[in-house]
Amino acid sequence: MNGSTSDTRRWAHVEVDLAAISHNVELLASKVAPAQMMAVVKADGYGHGAVPVARTALRAGAQSLAVALVQEGIELRRAGIEAPILVLSEQPESQIADMVSYGLTATAYSLPSIDALERAARNLDVTGYEVHLKIDTGMNRVGVRSPDVSDIAQRIVAGAPWLSLGGTYTHFAAADDLGSTSAGEQLAAFDALLDELGRAGIDVGTVHTANSAASLVLPGSRRDVVRIGIAIYGITPSSDLVGSCEDLRPALSLKSRVSHVKDVRAGEGVSYGAHYRCATDTTIATVPIGYADGVARRAGLAGVQVLIDGRRHPIVGVVTMDQLMVDVGSSGVSVGDEVVLIGAQGDECIRVENVATLLGTIGYEVVCSLSARLPRVYVDGET
Ligand SMILES: *Cc1c(COP(=O)(O)O)cnc(C)c1O
Repeated sequence: MNGSTSDTRRWAHVEVDLAAISHNVELLASKVAPAQMMAVVKADGYGHGAVPVARTALRAGAQSLAVALVQEGIELRRAGIEAPILVLSEQPESQIADMVSYGLTATAYSLPSIDALERAARNLDVTGYEVHLKIDTGMNRVGVRSPDVSDIAQRIVAGAPWLSLGGTYTHFAAADDLGSTSAGEQLAAFDALLDELGRAGIDVGTVHTANSAASLVLPGSRRDVVRIGIAIYGITPSSDLVGSCEDLRPALSLKSRVSHVKDVRAGEGVSYGAHYRCATDTTIATVPIGYADGVARRAGLAGVQVLIDGRRHPIVGVVTMDQLMVDVGSSGVSVGDEVVLIGAQGDECIRVENVATLLGTIGYEVVCSLSARLPRVYVDGET
């Protein structure tokens, strides 16, 4: 695809290739079948835009969606999306009436939260309101732990006719680490608890455990449904999984333009604190995107580069709030030239994963950090 998109509001934007999202969802759906696929679109679709990603994923074969917050679910409902939407953790009391009335599926693992869900469903005269039980098998984030699992499950079941136990799930702490046995251990613990619930006569509903990494490398974790986030966006969960993600296509590019160019002399400093001093006479290009847009302030110091004219150039000095500087040497860069911070230009490509590694983080954080101030531009880059 070519990179000739833009946005007239400013000289920086996020470009999302919805054809890449479609491609990834189709590929993943066929890989995990007969398991169904829940597309995780929390955090504004990992920075890609929740509504366009959700619509595209549902069209490409996902049956349901997941979000972190009630407001994220409401945004999807207001856009006319009717597919099931799971909220992945318990929510503040103030959000529960909205969660029920917008038909979002709740997650529960504690008595006060189940009491509140039952009250809200009764008040709204909703029957059979779907609740998924979240079991903590070792992540130690949220979920009910053994030995309280049966009691909490029973409490949801006892919430009938207002509540119904629509699903039961757990979440892996290290499915993206091929050297770790923890996902297998969590799965075994989960299966033992499912057996316990079965013996107590509880219908656990839809069972799901796998995130992207587990869906790709732990086939035994693909139960009724898989919850796939990062892989939909064509981003590798971890360096261990590069080989399992070769056919995925990155969907997101981060683009800007050169806004100003100047010649500077050897020894001059660039940006706040003059942390970078030009070794020789050179040309410095300014790019109107900064840390308020989600480009890390330390990107230049960490060795992050950008593409201009199909060539790599280093970000130099600290990234400022709204602008950053690039040392373009004598390459003849002009005002208006396209700058690619993430994505392809000519034969070169800067991947999210590589930027993340330089910054000491993971691709997830790089894309989720791209702020709402950046316009999202959608393309359908069929190849
Ligand atoms: C975010 C999240 C996912 C998706 O994880 P990926 O690694 O992006 O696939 C799945 N399940 C839960 C509970 C999550 O919080």
